Amino acid sequence: MSRSSLLRFAGGSLLLAASSFLAPAQAADEVKDVRLYALDCGLIHVKDMAMFSDTGEYNGKPGVLSDPCFVIRHPKGILVWDTGLGDKMAETKGGVDVEIGHMQVDHTLLDQLKEIGLAPADVTYLSFSHTHFDHTGNANEFPGATWILNKTELAWAESKPGPFVNIDAFSDYKTAKTQMIDGDYDVFGDGSVVILKTPGHTPGHQSLELKLKKAGVVILSGDLVHQRANFTFRRVPPFNYERADTLASIDRVSTILTNTKGRLVVQHDLSDFKSLPKLPKYLD
Ligand SMILES: [Zn+2]
Repeated sequence: MSRSSLLRFAGGSLLLAASSFLAPAQAADEVKDVRLYALDCGLIHVKDMAMFSDTGEYNGKPGVLSDPCFVIRHPKGILVWDTGLGDKMAETKGGVDVEIGHMQVDHTLLDQLKEIGLAPADVTYLSFSHTHFDHTGNANEFPGATWILNKTELAWAESKPGPFVNIDAFSDYKTAKTQMIDGDYDVFGDGSVVILKTPGHTPGHQSLELKLKKAGVVILSGDLVHQRANFTFRRVPPFNYERADTLASIDRVSTILTNTKGRLVVQHDLSDFKSLPKLPKYLD
């Protein structure tokens, strides 16, 4: 039976289903101003927080880190910043034990995108603060986006620098459209969403500066620091790539925040994450 005769034959509900199936894919609704959505992409329970300061303040103390992903909606497109631990972990209810403690994903990135009316195919740009596994978990869900990648970071990741980098988790960079960058980068060309070069944690680490209409300047830290106290007291994890660069990057971001009266969001700081609007609400 041909499709037209099937449509003639079919009842109303099938016709409706068939016509929506045949309709072109709906692009995401347009937005007028820049919006920041914070998504819960996992929790990391750490047995001994000593690994987050080389000056001893956390020795022997446990802690919990948030592991968010962010969606930035702009009139000209959509940027996903960091992609969390990976939705695969959500298949193990309650999470998994790892050497440093325990990790869990209670809400998948894909479900949270759906909650705000988006599909992976709607995403225009994908970028990462750095290539550690807890920031690249769902990267391969976005093969159609343009991947904005720091050259130094990628070269380092390709050198197989150790257990924190799982290059297979973001292997689609080899086939996706890429925009390779060296330093600061204005994503939409109007200064409202700017990647900032903040090396130290890894060689090509970067943070993200947003200029929002109501909320003002907001900087997403990446892993420039892992806790708010680390920013305040300039504490550096012993496993960072370069201590001096980390301190210089903290100085840079601190000065930008002073100059712009901006707000810092320390991505792994649970209180900072909880201070952001809960989906489907956003900051604008
Ligand atoms: Zn991290």
